[in-house]
Amino acid sequence: MKGRVFIIGLGLIGGSLALCIKAEHPKAKIIGYDINKKQTRLAAMLGVVDEVAEEIETGAAEADLILIATPVKKIETMIEQLCHLSLKQGVIISDAGSTKVEIVKKAACLRDKGYTFVGGHPMAGSHKSGVQAAKSILFENAFYLLTPETDTDPEALESLKMWLKGTKARFLQVHPAEHDYLTGVISHFPHVIAASLVHQAERTSRTQSLVTRLAAGGFRDITRIASSSPHMWKDISLHNKDVLLQLFTDWQEEMARVANMLRAENEEALLQYFSRAKQFRDEMPVKEKGAIPAFYDLFVDVPDYPGVISEITGYLAKEKINLTNIRIRETREEVYGILVISFQTEEDRERAEQCIRHYTNYETSTGI
Ligand code: NAD
Repeated sequence: MKGRVFIIGLGLIGGSLALCIKAEHPKAKIIGYDINKKQTRLAAMLGVVDEVAEEIETGAAEADLILIATPVKKIETMIEQLCHLSLKQGVIISDAGSTKVEIVKKAACLRDKGYTFVGGHPMAGSHKSGVQAAKSILFENAFYLLTPETDTDPEALESLKMWLKGTKARFLQVHPAEHDYLTGVISHFPHVIAASLVHQAERTSRTQSLVTRLAAGGFRDITRIASSSPHMWKDISLHNKDVLLQLFTDWQEEMARVANMLRAENEEALLQYFSRAKQFRDEMPVKEKGAIPAFYDLFVDVPDYPGVISEITGYLAKEKINLTNIRIRETREEVYGILVISFQTEEDRERAEQCIRHYTNYETSTGI
């Protein structure tokens, strides 16, 4: 497709969307705007955008597609600003925010002016932020939720999907309230829980310094999302406040039930509790990308001798397999494997597993 694409917010998501659109539609002109001039300079330097707009007005005028990828509260501000501008007839406006109800409500002013606004949420990301972390494969095979209205022009919706084709994501249409409830359960609430577990460990560490070292393994993994941007999560929590408050009540009731089982030493009930959780979790799709960025970790059970890391990385280099991180685990309770190697994609992890099995006798596991 040809045309002008204006991206507001050149961070991880805005930058990645720009790369995907450029890859699929090389003739399109990508114009970027960000309040942080360091990000815009970097985006231009990295070739993520073709042009930088100094203000919203110049970027939005004549744009065929406007994508807003700022933090959710700022998406509302951006929509308000766009509502005061005269935009091109036929322009499609969408966003990438992690919440939808408040944003879609705010966008009524755009629809009133005859513009198409379709809420969007590409459900892939990372705890990293900024345009330097942007990549064109970020959304591959991930769900991309869209929240069109009943009166959204079907042609405009198709056109939006065509623009976003390079994401290689799987589009799903949902109601904004359904979106916020589902993402509340499987993403927003887990972020609060992850942060609260870290707070609990931090409080314990004031009197028990060993807790930090012992928490290095599985605890660090299950609380990984607590390292996401605090600003972003402040905004998301406020936007999805009602859903979260309901989920807190449900959770407190759930914890009270477990506490009662423990108090009564009810072995049967506890066994049922953990068994049902295990069964449901084990049946979840393994290869699909969900709301929280997946781990592509490979655990390798290597003997602890000098040079073992370079031996393994040497085999991976020989097969041209890119790794993103490598570390030794001190706490190895839940999964075998002293060495943890992280990859960007499931495919890289599978290739690495085959490679290590080919060159060595070391046991490997994905920890799934
Ligand atoms: P990010 O911090 O990497 O990027 C946000 C960018 O918006 C920054 O460059 C910032 O300078 C810019 N910005 C902030 N206020 C602005 C304003 N008033 N005008 C112009 N630019 C402004 O964050 P991100 O991870 O790219 O998240 C962007 C959006 O995507 C958020 O709404 C988030 O909820 C959503 N999202 C994030 C993820 C994820 O995992 N990171 C996944 C899906 C959706």
